Amino acid sequence: MTQMIEAMLDLETCFKHIREIRWADGVCCPRCSNKAISPHGFTTGNVHQRRYKCKSCKISFNDLTNTVMANSRLPICLWLGVYEAIQQNKTQEEIAEQFNLDIKDSRDLIWQLRHGIELQNPYQADW
Ligand SMILES: [Zn+2]
Repeated sequence: MTQMIEAMLDLETCFKHIREIRWADGVCCPRCSNKAISPHGFTTGNVHQRRYKCKSCKISFNDLTNTVMANSRLPICLWLGVYEAIQQNKTQEEIAEQFNLDIKDSRDLIWQLRHGIELQNPYQADW
């Protein structure tokens, strides 16, 4: 399954999409909402996942901090593919078939993504 998704969308493209969705209004601190941000390198082991530092509260965070994808065992490209399928109003069954998921995984992903890519719970530090 992973290989199929990764063939569809490479990691670089996935992170570009994620930034377009998440930072549509510009990068903003997940803790204090400040928009004065400086680049802060990349996440270890993934040069496509950018890190940032808030100039106000000084915390560092990355493209996935405080998102549904942050601590997921599922590949990032799968999350993104399902997110886009939801935007196209595909059904749970169509999504399960398209991404070769069982219906329970499909339902879980859809449920989480319907609440948005960003989590509503409090910010968790990216140390
Ligand atoms: Zn901040």
